[in-house]
Amino acid sequence: MKKRIPEEIVNEIISRNDIVEVISEYLPLQPGGANHRALCPFHNEKTPSFMVSREKQIYKCFGCGAAGNVAGFIMEKENLDFVEALKKLAERVHMQIPEDDMSQEAKEMLQEQHTLMDLHREAASFYFQNLKKPGSPGAAYLAKRGWSIHTIKGFGLGYAPDQWDALTRHLVKKGHPENQLIKAGLAIKREKSGVYDRFRNRVMFPIFDIRGNVVAFGGRILSSDDTPKYLNSPETPTFNKRHLLYGLNIARTQLINKTLILVEGYTDVISLHEQGFKNSAATLGTSLTPDHAKLVEKMAEKVILCFDGDDAGIRAAQRSIQIFRQTQLEVRILTLPKGTDPDQYIQDEGKEAFQNLLEKTPTAVDYQISLIRRKHSLATVEGKLHFARETADILKQIKSLVEREAYAGRIAEEIGVSKASFMQELQQNGRGFVQKQPYQSSKRRKEFMPVIEAMIPLEVDPLLKSEQQFLKWMLDHSDELDRLTDKVSDEYFHDPAHKIIFSIILENAKEIEENQKKVDLFAGFEKELANIEKTEEHNLPNDEIIYRFTHFVRKYRLQQQLKHLEKQLQHIEELVDMNPKEKEDEMLKMGMEIRRINIELQQLSLQKGVKTNG
Ligand SMILES: [Zn+2]
Repeated sequence: MKKRIPEEIVNEIISRNDIVEVISEYLPLQPGGANHRALCPFHNEKTPSFMVSREKQIYKCFGCGAAGNVAGFIMEKENLDFVEALKKLAERVHMQIPEDDMSQEAKEMLQEQHTLMDLHREAASFYFQNLKKPGSPGAAYLAKRGWSIHTIKGFGLGYAPDQWDALTRHLVKKGHPENQLIKAGLAIKREKSGVYDRFRNRVMFPIFDIRGNVVAFGGRILSSDDTPKYLNSPETPTFNKRHLLYGLNIARTQLINKTLILVEGYTDVISLHEQGFKNSAATLGTSLTPDHAKLVEKMAEKVILCFDGDDAGIRAAQRSIQIFRQTQLEVRILTLPKGTDPDQYIQDEGKEAFQNLLEKTPTAVDYQISLIRRKHSLATVEGKLHFARETADILKQIKSLVEREAYAGRIAEEIGVSKASFMQELQQNGRGFVQKQPYQSSKRRKEFMPVIEAMIPLEVDPLLKSEQQFLKWMLDHSDELDRLTDKVSDEYFHDPAHKIIFSIILENAKEIEENQKKVDLFAGFEKELANIEKTEEHNLPNDEIIYRFTHFVRKYRLQQQLKHLEKQLQHIEELVDMNPKEKEDEMLKMGMEIRRINIELQQLSLQKGVKTNG
């Protein structure tokens, strides 16, 4: 809950920050008569129409209409909310903000945060000094990276010496007690006594909060036999990576067309900034959370998600799309070629190539449709069936009716059915499907299709239930999930939320096992999780549960396909004035398809026999 700042304190902060002095720190003001004038910082112009009145302590642009007091200026220019802007102005005049109804405990916590931030600032300058030392391995690494001095300084990069307690000795000598270093995550307690540095022989990336305070560190190894490659500070009173985006302290004042580029790692952000894409930030290698999405929504109108081109990248993109669904942001997806990340790509291909990709980013919906299109060939009935059903699931989640209808029209055209029937399917539950009549002339086809297209929607409850039961098993057996390799993938899940929950459980099995932070891990899926947790579980051996789930899903899908095809066949049979040759062909084709499915079902039921004997 955001603390309220007392009125009189607000007024005092504003009165102690003279608007002309504050704005002059951002742009050159020309004194002229009663007011100062300048080119407007909020819109492009050639003649200055931006006025600042010292007397009234306000600013106003007669071009774009931007206006306000000194706090308003900071909010607009720095992309901060009111409380953050006030805090920045208070700091500028060295004022502490006493928050009137703050409990003793809250005051102590705030005090502790200030102490830990001071400690981080000192640690950052210690690492920076070490980077500058002649022969520093950190400098050698950064030289190879090709980042300019300006960028290195802008991100405050440093080097942690290859010693057990270099930082500890430095900070203790400065009067910081060891337990504070441990609380800040900078040092680790030794078994016997004393502490040692968490970061050693690493290039250091200070992690900043939204206002530019150092609140944690990331360290990249330099010697190949050390692990992990990237090490972040643990969670501390100043740092929770689920609430922070790396580089946002810079990006928030550099948004181009209110657009933020979101990547995964800090080297991605730095390489993009180096090439001029200063409106980029990273999730620090953790999966995106609703808090991240809210943070972005506060300052941007559009977000471009830039993930690696591999399967993990695609999964991360789908999960992020789901989370951004809760916001008003326009979401676009930038997919990189397989096996590369933004850092590597922009180094290899250069700024223009990246700019081109940026300009061609599809919307989140187009992106998801393209993934579905990749999975199913539209040359077969079955392919169309799956394509339509899965795209319907995506379109169903679009809030704007106009946007949904526009997409429905495009999809209907692509699979050769009328828009009306596809919209009907969307309204039903997005899980039914219609079949195209291949051999009728367009006029004739129009006549018959509505009849044919009114298919029975898929009843999904048994499917949904089996998915919930299986996810429940996974949650309760997070130490057994290796058994799923090559047996179960997110393809087995029909429900989009279940698909993502499946990936979350797999990616965070360890945390789940230690029962850590479930609330955070499944943020945005509370409803689904509650349904899963209340499902009763089978009391069967683990392999049997896995086998039954995969068997059930495959059988279920085949049966659904069969049902659709049989219905199709029946309708075609009933058609009286269809061209006999074509009718025969179509029925033959469907007959073949039905036969193929029946064989597969038989094999499945045969398999079952084998399993139990095992
Ligand atoms: Zn203006």
